[in-house]
Amino acid sequence: MLSEHIGNILAILLTLSGLIVSLFHYVAKPCRAWIYCMGFLMGNLLSNYYWGTYTILMGDYPTTSSFMAYLGWDIGYVFLALLVFEIRFEEEKAFFSPISLLPIPIIVPQFLYYLQFGGIFNNIWQNFWCALIACVSVNSMIFYFKNRKNGARKPHVAILSLHFIIMEYIMWTSSCFAWPSEWLYPYTYASYLMTTVFLLISWAISKDLDQPWRRAKGTPVRQSQAVLRPLYILTLAVFSFGGFFLALWMKEEMIAQLGEEDGIVLYPIIALVLFVISIVVIIFTVAVIFIFTYGQRAAESKMLRIEKTNAEHANAAKSDFLANMSHEIRTPINAVLGMNEMILRESLQAREIPREDTLAMNRVLTNISTYSGNIESAGNNLLSIINDILDFSKIEAGKLEIVNDNYRLSTVLNDICIMVGIRAKEKKLSFDTAIDGSLPENLFGDAVRVQQIVTNILNNAVKYTHEGSVRLSVYKNDEATIEAGKNIDIIFEVKDTGIGIRKEDIDKLFDKFERVDLQQNSTVEGTGLGLAITHNLLEMMGGSVSVDSDYGKGSVFTVVIPQQVVSAEPMGDFRNKYRNEQMSAPVLRESFEAPEAVILVVDDTAMNLKVVEGLLKNTKIGLDMASSGAEAIEKASKKSYDIILMDQRMPVMDGTEAMNRIKEETGGPNVGVPFICLTADAVSGAKEKYLSQGFTDYLTKPINRKALEEMLKKYLPQDKIIKA
Ligand code: ADP
Repeated sequence: MLSEHIGNILAILLTLSGLIVSLFHYVAKPCRAWIYCMGFLMGNLLSNYYWGTYTILMGDYPTTSSFMAYLGWDIGYVFLALLVFEIRFEEEKAFFSPISLLPIPIIVPQFLYYLQFGGIFNNIWQNFWCALIACVSVNSMIFYFKNRKNGARKPHVAILSLHFIIMEYIMWTSSCFAWPSEWLYPYTYASYLMTTVFLLISWAISKDLDQPWRRAKGTPVRQSQAVLRPLYILTLAVFSFGGFFLALWMKEEMIAQLGEEDGIVLYPIIALVLFVISIVVIIFTVAVIFIFTYGQRAAESKMLRIEKTNAEHANAAKSDFLANMSHEIRTPINAVLGMNEMILRESLQAREIPREDTLAMNRVLTNISTYSGNIESAGNNLLSIINDILDFSKIEAGKLEIVNDNYRLSTVLNDICIMVGIRAKEKKLSFDTAIDGSLPENLFGDAVRVQQIVTNILNNAVKYTHEGSVRLSVYKNDEATIEAGKNIDIIFEVKDTGIGIRKEDIDKLFDKFERVDLQQNSTVEGTGLGLAITHNLLEMMGGSVSVDSDYGKGSVFTVVIPQQVVSAEPMGDFRNKYRNEQMSAPVLRESFEAPEAVILVVDDTAMNLKVVEGLLKNTKIGLDMASSGAEAIEKASKKSYDIILMDQRMPVMDGTEAMNRIKEETGGPNVGVPFICLTADAVSGAKEKYLSQGFTDYLTKPINRKALEEMLKKYLPQDKIIKA
């Protein structure tokens, strides 16, 4: 009996542990296999607890009803069968080997022996399910052996289930024969070995489902789960021990009250109590599963709903952006084409003006220069839209970099004020500045981005103000100390008397593609990217932006940018400072000439060659033009150049290939010549890509005259450069 007690206790403990592990697996990632596994374990728990506790306590088997004893085990077989069917891999489902029917003839003798002990119904039930489980498991194992070289995975659950059935077979068959002692009774060992299945089954399922044994790292355990887990384990433990002690107490009471003989008559009551306790444990487990998964699903579906709304909103904003973009791009193109048309028309008319009518001629020239000024501004507008998109794509790809260098604050402020001042004047707005002269002049940071951020906020202020004023204040906190090497927060405050922003819209302002108050703003041009870029840039620079607005009256945008102080020297009046600067360093802005230099310009678009020619006209540099890669190779094989400007995207042979072919010509006239890549490809990573292909440097189209001149000055032989 002792060995049997050990087996019984083991069975109860292992089923409980297996059940707890499976339950939490299921809660972490619900799937049908876990439900079947829990059904199997719960069924076994029901019978193991009822049977085990009773035999330990009473030293005998429960006589009440074999139905009650076998009920749980019989349910368990059904769930185990469902599990072995469920856990099969897709390919396995179509596989059948006749060898897998082998368990049937093996199980038949056991059925015949045992018929004399268990009831007939119980026997048929058990043997049917055992045969089914064994056949499916053997089939899975044969499939594995046949396909393991093709990557079939080991069927852990099938192996474990077959082990379970074999142990059952040994147990029940050996129980039909007499054995010399309980320690020589195969039943004992088979029952011990069988109980291991209760513990290992969850491990086997997670192996077959290819899940990590423990909850994936980073999956948050909700607080309710963290509390419920120990509570669940505690309750199960209390129930199990509680049931045992309750039954013990009942037994003692019965014997004390009724005496040994009569007390025994009431033992079935104890059996019934134990059965009820097992049922309560099962119901409790099912309730916990329900609460857990229901809570989890509710939380998940709430999250999904929120994510869906967010995604729908983002999608709508993106669609609006695309529709809006088409409008934004068409407007400046329309201006360019319209103005160009005017130039063409007026220059044709000018031909008919008599020579002596200089007044009329001057009028036409003035008109033409106004039109071309308009073309320039429309072109710049278009470029700034495209630059915004590029910046934004770089931010999204995480490729935008902050490039820090020494700079003068007065220069940045001056550039900003000139640019915004012109726009404000065009809209008849007054533009005032209040700039704290005690701010340090020499700073270390990304001047280009600082200028971009402040200009963007100021341009918005001008754009969204129809009358009144825009005011820029730049200052620092009163308590901030200016010390070389230390950071200082520079505060830019932009105040306007414009249309203002509703309180509920303020949070949306910095989202990508987001434009608010569209009714008011329908005629105002914009992409909805500016503030998103500003916000991202500020985040990268460790700064911040905040908004305060009175709808209908105006807004105040406050930007804080931390910058490093290079020297404590105060800026003073920034306009004076800037002017002095200009006077004392005229050389910096000077243009240059290089009549001795010769460069080769390669581009398949004739217009682009013309643009380069026009831009470099004043430098007197000798220019050779090639309109294809092949022509460039040919020219480069005959003549030595100081620089080759190479367009990247050309038909037949692209710029990289043409460059490589020129470079390959060993001993040719252009060994070591700098190649500058000319391309409209300005997306993130483009520069790195072209440099890695072998280009010396990179210039984007549309070509900026200053950038082109700077580039040439850098790569032309210095002795050929004459300062103008
Ligand atoms: P946009 O290209 O549309 O100007 P932004 O990202 O720069 O895009 O701005 C987002 C939205 O914020 C604008 O469409 C506008 O509705 C609102 N906004 C920005 N600045 C102001 C301002 N100074 N006054 C009123 N509304 C503003």
